[in-house]
Amino acid sequence: MKEIPEEAIKAIKEANKLVVLTGAGISAESGVPTFRGKNGLWKRFRPEELATPTAFKKDPKLVWEWYNWRRGLIAPIEPNEAHRLIAEMEKLYPEFIVITQNIDGLHKKAGSKKVIELHGNIWRVKCTKCKFKEENRQVPLKELPPKCPKCQSLLRPDVVWFGEPLDKEVLEEAIFHSETCDLMLVIGTSAVVQPAASLPLIAKNKGAKVIEVNPEITPISAIVDWSLRLKAVEFAQKLREHLFS
Ligand code: NAD
Ligand code: ZN
Repeated sequence: MKEIPEEAIKAIKEANKLVVLTGAGISAESGVPTFRGKNGLWKRFRPEELATPTAFKKDPKLVWEWYNWRRGLIAPIEPNEAHRLIAEMEKLYPEFIVITQNIDGLHKKAGSKKVIELHGNIWRVKCTKCKFKEENRQVPLKELPPKCPKCQSLLRPDVVWFGEPLDKEVLEEAIFHSETCDLMLVIGTSAVVQPAASLPLIAKNKGAKVIEVNPEITPISAIVDWSLRLKAVEFAQKLREHLFS
């Protein structure tokens, strides 16, 4: 089985400020389907046809039915060894931040405290008109599409859809931490969804070492310091031995 290079282990151990950037791949082994995998389809729709403001405008009930299905899939799912190791690593470093593209909430469920959710969270809803926002863990939702208790307008999932900008403050924070870390671990992201895909480049340009963990080659594989063809859980099991034994 492929090993983590000694130099990469050394860089991980010696880092003062470590940023972990994760994508759908880290949750794949927990059973959350990735968008681009074979299990990403619901009925005959592709996520790119449903996770958009246009789709929601056209047919909010259909989009909510899809989220209802996804929420039902994610609800019983537990974090895996990769989420757990990352949560434990937080205690080893002076500064340690998780930046995730995932909306499944599994980093927090695993115990990570400093988590920047770039694309929001599937367990939060927000009003399409007023400022109302709340956590909502009802599975399945009783009312479809759900309405705002304050103004009766439509509620939507508090996630970032294709074609929508990220929350400005959230993005600025992610960029700041990418600029100021000395090591970035990039796990399970295809590095094609912007602006998240730029964060490893920002880190690299500011002098940080970057380690990628992905069974597939991605657009950033060639520019990182180490690109490891490992699955997230396999990587975590190996890294745990070096960090905790
Ligand atoms: P993505 O673009 O981050 O691609 C998934 C990547 O994970 C691929 O490069 C794949 O090679 C890799 N991968 C697959 N299995 C892996 C494993 N076991 N270990 C490590 N890497 C593995 O994600 P996407 O599915 O194309 O989705 C794009 C966006 O959609 C995400 O950024 C996110 O906002 C949203 N999304 C979130 C979730 C979630 O919350 N779990 C799931 C699907 C999609
Ligand atoms: Zn409202």
